[in-house]
Amino acid sequence: MSRILAIANQKGGVGKTTTCVNLGASLAATRRRVLIVDLDPQGNATMGCGVNKNELDASSCDVLLGESLIEETIVALDNGMWLLPGNNDLVAAEVGLLQAEDRERRLRQVLELVRNDFDFILIDCPPSLNMLTINALSAADGVIIPMQCEYYALEGLSSLLETIERVRATVNPRLQVEGLLRTMFDPRNNLANQVAAQLTDHFGDRVYNSVIPRNVRLAEAPSHGLSALQYDKNSRGAVAYLTLAGEIIRRQKKQNAANANQ
Ligand code: ATP
Ligand code: MG
Repeated sequence: MSRILAIANQKGGVGKTTTCVNLGASLAATRRRVLIVDLDPQGNATMGCGVNKNELDASSCDVLLGESLIEETIVALDNGMWLLPGNNDLVAAEVGLLQAEDRERRLRQVLELVRNDFDFILIDCPPSLNMLTINALSAADGVIIPMQCEYYALEGLSSLLETIERVRATVNPRLQVEGLLRTMFDPRNNLANQVAAQLTDHFGDRVYNSVIPRNVRLAEAPSHGLSALQYDKNSRGAVAYLTLAGEIIRRQKKQNAANANQ
């Protein structure tokens, strides 16, 4: 069964796009069929996947506005993933959606058409709780929340959790917090360790055991349009995302087994 995961945090620069591209690449390396959906006008996931956001014939904007077919807009990537690319046109999509009927459900409706073609659909959200993020949450089965373990990390988390709760109560009752992911982690930093411990105290097993370290390869890879796995497969960053992919797959198997026993 396919799983749609939104990667969201309205805080900027916490590792959403890095997680989307590298978790996707790691899942693809285990022969899962993975679609990355770029829903951020910055188009960073698109560029990070090696696709030029300025030369798109059609994008996620056109798909959301009903001006392109999703099947014709998805592009195949070299590493076995697929991408629904996005760029600055998404700013227009956000405005257009505000006037549309079913404005929160547009992404969900189009992803339904291709859902069975993929094992995982990962949606890269913009750093905002706008209509694009609401569309991602409405389409998703789960949310992955990347967090940097710093003083202000927990600030803003409550408004994200409230938004998730509101979407669950209105458009998407199946939505769950899939997991909180500690990113850019530096174990030598005392504050980072304290915040990491606070997160596990507060959210228990919803915090992934896998931790993404601060690793320069993760920052370099997108400038080559590559995942860290393609750029330097032995780097600590690439290995950390492989470990996370393994954890997600194991969790899902456990969940499926529990559901089957119910
Ligand atoms: P935005 O909110 O702007 O979309 P984001 O949450 O998607 O940002 P990223 O773009 O993934 O965050 O990461 C922000 C910056 O930090 C990027 O330059 C990225 O290359 C770098 N970065 C992300 N994760 C790591 C890491 N684990 N180690 C080192 N650098 C990282
Ligand atoms: Mg981003």
